[in-house]
Amino acid sequence: MKTESARLFFALWPDEAQRTALTAMTESLPAGLGRHVAPANIHITLLFLGAVAAETRQALEAAATRIAASPFVLTLDHYGYWRKPQVLWAGSRVTPPELRGLVEQLQRAASACGLSVDNRPYQPHLTLCRKVRQPPQLPKFLPFYWAAADFSLVESRSAPGGVRYEPCRAWALRVDVDSTSGPHSVE
Ligand code: ATP
Ligand code: MG
Repeated sequence: MKTESARLFFALWPDEAQRTALTAMTESLPAGLGRHVAPANIHITLLFLGAVAAETRQALEAAATRIAASPFVLTLDHYGYWRKPQVLWAGSRVTPPELRGLVEQLQRAASACGLSVDNRPYQPHLTLCRKVRQPPQLPKFLPFYWAAADFSLVESRSAPGGVRYEPCRAWALRVDVDSTSGPHSVE
C-alpha cells in the first residue's frame, strides 16, 4: 500500500515584522549575485527531515508537543558563504543554549519516530541567496535580533516558480516548567 508522504523540516518561521526586516536584508545585497530567497520563503532551518509518511508525521507532531524549550533571541551578526552549495547566508557567532537544546530535542524526537537525522553540529543560518558563484563583496552587516517565541513544522513543495515552503503547525516555546514551579521538594 502506498502511503502519503510530505517533505518536511522544522524551522524558525518569521512573523510579518521579522519577515519585512529580513526581506530588506536580502534586498540590500548587490544585484546579480544569484537567486535571492523569496521573501515568503525566509526561515531558519532547525532540522531537515525529508520525506515523512503520514503516520510518522502524527507521531512526530505528538513528540513536538512534548518539547520544552524556553524562548530566546538569536543574533544574526555576519554573512557566510558555502562554496560547494553556492549559498550566501546570515549566521550567528553564538548559538543560544535554548536553541541548541531545542534542536537536540527535535533530533531525539525525530530519531524516536524512526527518521534518520543529520548529526553534524548545528549551525544556525538563514539562507539569503543561492547559486552564488563567487564569495561577493558585501555591504556592512547590520545585526538582526530574532526573538524566537515558537518553532514550526514546515512542508516544502515544489511549485512552478521554484520551491514553496508552507508552515503547517507551530508550537510555542515556553519557560521550562521545572525552573518556574517554585521550590522543589527534596526527596
Ligand atoms: P530545492 O532542494 O528544491 O532546490 P530547497 O533546498 O530550498 O530547494 P528543501 O530541499 O526542501 O528546499 O529544503 C528545505 C530546507 O531544509 C532548506 O532550508 C534547506 O536548506 C534545508 N535542507 C535541505 N536539505 C538539507 C539537509 N540534507 N541537511 C540540512 N538542511 C537541509
Ligand atoms: Mg534542497
